Amino acid sequence: MTKYGYMSTAALAMPTAEQVAKYEPVIGLEVHVQLATNTKIFCGCPTSFGEEPNTNVCPVCLALPGALPVLSREAVELAIQGSLALRCRVNEKSIFARKNYFYPDLPKGYQISQYDQPLAEHGWIDIELEGVKKRIGVTRVHMEDDAGKSSHDGFRDSEKYSYVDLNRAGTPLIEIVSEPDMRSSDEAYAYLTELKQAMQFIGASACDMEKGQLRCDANVSVRLKGAGKFGTKVEIKNLNSFRHVKLGIEYEILRQIALVEAGEKVRQQTRLFNVDSGETTLMRDKEEAADYRYFPEPDLLPLVVTEEWKAALAAKMPELPSHRRNRFINEYGLREYDAQVLTLTRAMADYYERAAQASPDAKMAANWVMGDLTGALNAAGRGIEESPIPPEHLGELVQLIHSGELSGKLAKEIFAKMLEEPLSPRAIMERDGLKQISDTGALAGIIEEVLAGNQKQVEQYKSGKTTVIGFLVGQVMKASKGQANPGAVNEMLKAKLDA
Ligand code: ADP
Ligand code: ZN
Ligand code: MG
Repeated sequence: MTKYGYMSTAALAMPTAEQVAKYEPVIGLEVHVQLATNTKIFCGCPTSFGEEPNTNVCPVCLALPGALPVLSREAVELAIQGSLALRCRVNEKSIFARKNYFYPDLPKGYQISQYDQPLAEHGWIDIELEGVKKRIGVTRVHMEDDAGKSSHDGFRDSEKYSYVDLNRAGTPLIEIVSEPDMRSSDEAYAYLTELKQAMQFIGASACDMEKGQLRCDANVSVRLKGAGKFGTKVEIKNLNSFRHVKLGIEYEILRQIALVEAGEKVRQQTRLFNVDSGETTLMRDKEEAADYRYFPEPDLLPLVVTEEWKAALAAKMPELPSHRRNRFINEYGLREYDAQVLTLTRAMADYYERAAQASPDAKMAANWVMGDLTGALNAAGRGIEESPIPPEHLGELVQLIHSGELSGKLAKEIFAKMLEEPLSPRAIMERDGLKQISDTGALAGIIEEVLAGNQKQVEQYKSGKTTVIGFLVGQVMKASKGQANPGAVNEMLKAKLDA
């Protein structure tokens, strides 16, 4: 066996750029998303993460004899909303099915999933790469329960032991299966990003990959450009981050091209991504694939989703990221790029929207959120949901600039104080006397003094060197401790000097 996982006497070299250019990769993704319910899908056990092993369990999720599953309405509703977010058609009737296999972390001896009649079908996710939009088909969304977790690194009496934690057994999942529509690892990455964002925005899942709330298997094949038929696919498992998905796909594309170029066949396999080597290694061949002996789950009725229920859930569903992005452009006049940044997470979009609504200038509010606020939060290692400045205060700051009560410079000074204390910008401005002076009466005195003290520059101005006005404005700003309104000062100086 070589590192490419095929039987051969000679190791394959990586393909050359010319060889790679002849082929087109084909990619389809299968994504498991944990639904954000408080309880498991078929029992009332909590889904909380990080508990003592085997404490979030009951007769149902332990599969004790006689225990029967009761389907969680909350899980179904999130699954329906998740399906609608992916523009799927939700089937009026779907059927739960037993997927039989043996593994120590699966106490029932079968997983309850859906098979030939899934919850939802025929959806899509739109992605955009370097300005080019593309639609990726979503084949199906089905519901299922998660297995427990095994760990193989335990020791007891210096013997190696494996342990099983069934806290996760029975956690509700949806599996989202894509069409083989992606043609590069970047497209796969963009698809996952959009999928995750959609699930987060509608509250179907937190999609925290570190907690295993989003898991992805990648199917990869290659074919000669222009060929009609797909090549044989390989499924990569064990992809724990979007970056690993990208790396795993890239390695697999090269491995398959090398095989084909060497005159060998790609074999249908399940392979594992190895984080340390960046390679994929053989897990099992197609011939070893399990026969799951699917059959309809006799302990559960068919799931019926009426039009009314679907409509009510659609009406209750929080706004999708793409919709919100467009609304930010149309309603707040943002540029496409800014709208994109401000809808990266639901928390960011919510924050911005509240700040914009509390201010008279939504674009200026956007600049403050993306610039000074994001900068300060990044420096402090905080997320926007932990911002010490409430969005309404940021909106008020924009309002003070807009009305001319604060200059940009004074606003920055007050912003720095807002990070430190929970006061509104107006309260800080008034307490610290930082208001911008635009009032002509208050400025006239300072201007008189500055003109009197700088006769030489006044002469220069009058003899035609009008650029010297910049110096005089500077002097007034200095005399006012930075609080004079530079625009007003400029105007007043000009009027006086030209008189
Ligand atoms: P299986 O019967 O092995 O489960 P499916 O047809 O259900 O295969 O597809 C599983 C996943 O593999 C889907 O995401 C699909 O888009 C993808 N897929 C199917 N055929 C190919 C192929 N030739 N190359 C890449 N991906 C593929
Ligand atoms: Zn339980
Ligand atoms: Mg399949």
